[in-house]
Amino acid sequence: MTERIPVVENILNANDRIALDNQKRLTDAGVFCINLMASPGAGKTSLIERMLPVLSERMSIAVIDGDVASSIDADRAAAAGATAVQINTGGQCHLDATQLRHALDELELGTFDLLIVENVGNLICPASFKIGAHTSVLIASVPEGDDKPYKYPGMYHGVDALVINKTDLLPYIDFDMPYFRRGVELLNQELVSFPLSCKTGEGLDAWIRWVEERTAQAQKA
Ligand code: MG
Ligand code: ZN
Repeated sequence: MTERIPVVENILNANDRIALDNQKRLTDAGVFCINLMASPGAGKTSLIERMLPVLSERMSIAVIDGDVASSIDADRAAAAGATAVQINTGGQCHLDATQLRHALDELELGTFDLLIVENVGNLICPASFKIGAHTSVLIASVPEGDDKPYKYPGMYHGVDALVINKTDLLPYIDFDMPYFRRGVELLNQELVSFPLSCKTGEGLDAWIRWVEERTAQAQKA
């Protein structure tokens, strides 16, 4: 048992070093990078599909999709107008910095303003593996339940923004928003949140404006 801990720490340290390299590479190329995380089915790809038509008019966007298998999500991002790269993790339940580094090799980084990385659907280990993104965003969706901040504190603790998706389902589901928000605030008081529905489009404007402003700020700096 005591032998295992240093091994895990070394893996994380090596990963963090590569993540720093990735971030420098992105910064030098003038690309703002978002690490988009969520449980499976929360709406990561749907949100990307909603963002692309609006943001593509103002900036050049690439999408990297992490999945255990298939290229379904990268195909959807490409169909929505982005340059898309699929990473198949071959069973690994999160993206790591080395995988992102290889995916960055596939892109002509200098031609993009924004890179959206759709992480593997999972609320546990993606929070522990830095990939080199400038900001981390979590999508929670109403049907997952209002107790998720209490059950997956690591994920809620480490992100910069929270999208609350599928708000169109609120009338049909027992989701106690004040209870959910209390759980979030206990973990992360800085967290900016965007309730929205990818289905109806309600609330998308504020989220898209945030992405646009953060991208512009990063490029100015
Ligand atoms: Mg997806
Ligand atoms: Zn994992």
